[in-house]
Amino acid sequence: LPAEFKAALPILETLENAGYEAYFVGGSVRDTLLEKPIHDVDIATSAYPEEVKTLFNSTVDTGIEHGTVMILDHGQGYETTTFRTESTYTDFRRPDEVTFVRSLAEDLKRRDFTVNALALKPNGEVVDLFDGVRDLQNKILRAVGQAEERFHEDALRMMRAVRFAAQLDFKIEEHTRAAIKDNAALLEHIAIERINVEFTKLLQGSNARYGLLEMMATKLNNYMPGLENVDIDLLGFAELLGQAQPKDDTQAWTLLAFELGLTPSDTVIFMKKWKQSAALIGTAKKSIALLNELRKGPVSAWQLYTTGQALENALAVADLSELEVDTQALATQFTALPIHDKRDLALTGADLTQELGLQPGPIFGKILHQVEQQVVAGERTNQASELLAVARTLAEKEKK
Ligand code: ATP
Ligand code: MG
Repeated sequence: LPAEFKAALPILETLENAGYEAYFVGGSVRDTLLEKPIHDVDIATSAYPEEVKTLFNSTVDTGIEHGTVMILDHGQGYETTTFRTESTYTDFRRPDEVTFVRSLAEDLKRRDFTVNALALKPNGEVVDLFDGVRDLQNKILRAVGQAEERFHEDALRMMRAVRFAAQLDFKIEEHTRAAIKDNAALLEHIAIERINVEFTKLLQGSNARYGLLEMMATKLNNYMPGLENVDIDLLGFAELLGQAQPKDDTQAWTLLAFELGLTPSDTVIFMKKWKQSAALIGTAKKSIALLNELRKGPVSAWQLYTTGQALENALAVADLSELEVDTQALATQFTALPIHDKRDLALTGADLTQELGLQPGPIFGKILHQVEQQVVAGERTNQASELLAVARTLAEKEKK
């Protein structure tokens, strides 16, 4: 057992000693059998949420209506979910109700893929009701039960299929794949935030190329905002991902926008459709502005300056992309800029009033902006007396 599981063993023992069943389930079991590092340890138990709560001193109701209680143990949180079944699905995204049950088998049956439907006993024994271990060995992603039915219950599972294919480098089993192809349109019922989570993981998968190609082959992309009918661009993007792996969400999405050939403002529109965070959108927009210029040729000091904080991301994406630019040199050039922010300028609005007797107004911004550009371009030294003289000349011109 990996250390993460060992640390959680007392929790399972507490549940078992109280007469309940308790298992490790989900991705951590799958990844352990694949000898991959694990992140979150999920526990499933026959104890009902209220019963779980009476057994532990410190719990948080993270999703009690779904049966999930977080048990806090030595500063570590463990999501513990009561075995449950899911009733009929009428909206293609969530069960009309969940019912807590005492049977592990019932719980495993509702899980998405065979490799995700394994349970691990505290003694290290694996419960494998759907030949998940065999699929793990053969690197196959197969829906539990009837794929068609499972995607009707929850259409997000189709996105999860291509995500896991990319992450695990598993082939999607034939029937599962056919069912995705037949039901891709059901993705329209799924909240964009949830599609985003899966797609973002896909883009960073070790075989993102394959995941993306499967996403296209099954036409899932036709139900993803901004990705409808851009198959040629996506193909190029997939090939690129075959050689380059984005290291974070921002890199992944910036690279996508760049390969789609978006302008900075279209990047914002695209990202907003996907409900990206303001921070990601801001960085991507600035990065795309620089990258599009780099595509045309050498860039100015001003272009680097206005990229600002986004430069690190922009250069990382340039390295991932087909651009052949010396990103090291660009980074060095940026560091060497005389200023990196308006606040670094040795001239302020207050100087304009106090030293030149100007009244605040639109002309203020205009003068400061010109001075800023000249300093960044290296045409003027960032020194108060020199900049004041420049501002004086500019102000005279404005008066005429
Ligand atoms: P990751 O390593 O990315 O966390 P994971 O397999 O743990 O992968 P989670 O989204 O954390 O994925 O879900 C935990 C488990 O819950 C899954 O392994 C699967 O058994 C089950 N599960 C999650 N989402 C669904 C779903 N939409 N339909 C059916 N089962 C699901
Ligand atoms: Mg997980």
